[in-house]
Amino acid sequence: MIIVLVIFCVWGAGPSYGGLSITVVYDNSPYLEGATADWGFSCLVKAGREKILFDTGKDSSIFFSNITKLGIDLKTINTIVISHLHEDHFGGLFPIMEKQPKATVFLPTSTPEMQVQFQALKIRNITVEKPIQIGKGLFLTGDMGTGINEQALIINTPLGLIIIAGCSHPGITNIISKAKGLIHRPVYLVIGGFHSMPETTEGMFEVIEKFRSLGVRKVGPAHCTDEKAKAFFKAAYGKNYISIGAGKTLNFSNKKNE
Ligand SMILES: [Zn+2]
Ligand SMILES: [Zn+2]
Repeated sequence: MIIVLVIFCVWGAGPSYGGLSITVVYDNSPYLEGATADWGFSCLVKAGREKILFDTGKDSSIFFSNITKLGIDLKTINTIVISHLHEDHFGGLFPIMEKQPKATVFLPTSTPEMQVQFQALKIRNITVEKPIQIGKGLFLTGDMGTGINEQALIINTPLGLIIIAGCSHPGITNIISKAKGLIHRPVYLVIGGFHSMPETTEGMFEVIEKFRSLGVRKVGPAHCTDEKAKAFFKAAYGKNYISIGAGKTLNFSNKKNE
């Protein structure tokens, strides 16, 4: 409760960043010519001076090829957030850390084998259990594990909350509800993998109804979201549906009416 109050009081209005962008480095779908699509997820959040890498994709050679194409300098990334310990989200972590061992890694859980590698490379790593703030307007939901430990990133912006999820194993609507419970602001955008969407049309309508009741203004289903679910979101959200793919950059203004 103390954490909730602190978050709400300090960041209730959402800070301005002087530049906020999300670049999709790794995704199942193609977008930018020359960037490789592959099963997995990774994106770079630039929020003012902060640069946070959310997930690292599966194959480090594809990750490095894509960041080269996108002109991203690993040395400028000081924070890495791993959503959960599935290979398609953390496969690139240690090859990246060999090139940028100064970054701090936030994980929902780790293994003894990973700790050996962290120690060998002298990497600062933090296991996140409860919601925490990791930068200006930047928060982690904390571990939402119900079998698979997973956390999501929340960016509190003047436009509202931007929520980035990896696979959403705990359920994407549960993640959105938790983010809203932590920071009492409207939800501007939710992007990431929306795992295990219902097979039936009725079930999909229920999910979209839940998104609407949570006040989600824009959606960017990515990664493991199946094509049928993407089509439902696209039909329901129209111009507020954002197609995500490897190499796509989303830029956000500080204006409330974007
Ligand atoms: Zn995944
Ligand atoms: Zn997963």
